Amino acid sequence: MKVSLLRCDSYEEATQILKNALINFADLFRPGDTVLVKPNMLSARRPEEAVTTHPAIVRAVLSFLKEIKCSVVVADSPASGNFQRIAEKTGIKDVCEEFNVPVFELDQPVPMNGEVYKKINIDKRIFEVDKIVNVAKLKTHSQMVLTLAVKNTFGCVPGLEKSGWHMRCGTNENFAALLVDIHKLVKPTLNIVDGVVGMEGNGPANGKIKRFGVIALSTDGFTLDFVLCKRMNVEPLIIYTVRESLERGLIVDHDVEGEWTSRIELPITTPVLPVPEALRSLARRLARSPRISRTKCVRCRICEERCPAKAINIDKMKIDYEKCIKCYVCHEVCPQGAISLVRRIF
Ligand code: SF4
Ligand code: SF4
Repeated sequence: MKVSLLRCDSYEEATQILKNALINFADLFRPGDTVLVKPNMLSARRPEEAVTTHPAIVRAVLSFLKEIKCSVVVADSPASGNFQRIAEKTGIKDVCEEFNVPVFELDQPVPMNGEVYKKINIDKRIFEVDKIVNVAKLKTHSQMVLTLAVKNTFGCVPGLEKSGWHMRCGTNENFAALLVDIHKLVKPTLNIVDGVVGMEGNGPANGKIKRFGVIALSTDGFTLDFVLCKRMNVEPLIIYTVRESLERGLIVDHDVEGEWTSRIELPITTPVLPVPEALRSLARRLARSPRISRTKCVRCRICEERCPAKAINIDKMKIDYEKCIKCYVCHEVCPQGAISLVRRIF
């Protein structure tokens, strides 16, 4: 298994650098293949905000696939908001128009059985196309610590079903097991992580923008994530999805091509060590809690709608901490950065 790390310091040069590297993966595709490209289209944010996959990266993928005569579509199911607006604001719609490629929302669920979780609704188009190219963004994630290739395929679960899974899973460890199940079902042919500019601190939507200067590629998303952790000096066992992948034996022998290394500031919610099962409920009690800033909140109610525990009341500007499961979805979807993660004294 090969993991390629391409040094790339700007999006001006990213399209060409990635296109040149994709030639080495041409054998994975045949002329006439239908290929679904799955970027990170989390929400309606501009490319320079580093929340979503940069259009320069999507451009390289579309250009390459078109040149080798594949039939291409681009699709995702965002965490919140109007899909067309998100496609426009992220710059992905423009790139799709440039290559005459349809871009649509994944909103047609079909139940699939994973190894751990059964009846996971995933969009049926994922299973109708010949190949998937998973194009993730390198970011921190307040719940999962990092979001890389494996977490990105959670966007193949349509709409509000995503929030419901936080309740059904209950713990971060269980949620990671779900994400690994989904990645195995989606089974991307190729995984690309856009880390030219990504996010550190309290990502995935309101962290600090950071230039990492890398584009990473591999046919194996589990191993790709593991290598990125190592190269950023992050202990793989504290990244929930990587730990789950290791426990399931999914990290395979690999060669790394490319000299890139970096550092990343992790979210304040990151555990110091992997939490043993016996201590998980205590760790959960001690974990940070969301708090709404009255001055920053514009009362759009997105957090209230997306909270899987129905713990938020925007009219009263209150969070019911007895109901809150600390999934940090509210922190992720708030467009104003109005939700902070704080320690509460019980
Ligand atoms: S209040 Fe926020 S962290 Fe708590 S359950 Fe709701 S979305 Fe999750
Ligand atoms: S906290 Fe954020 S998402 Fe929630 S209502 Fe206020 S601005 Fe909207």
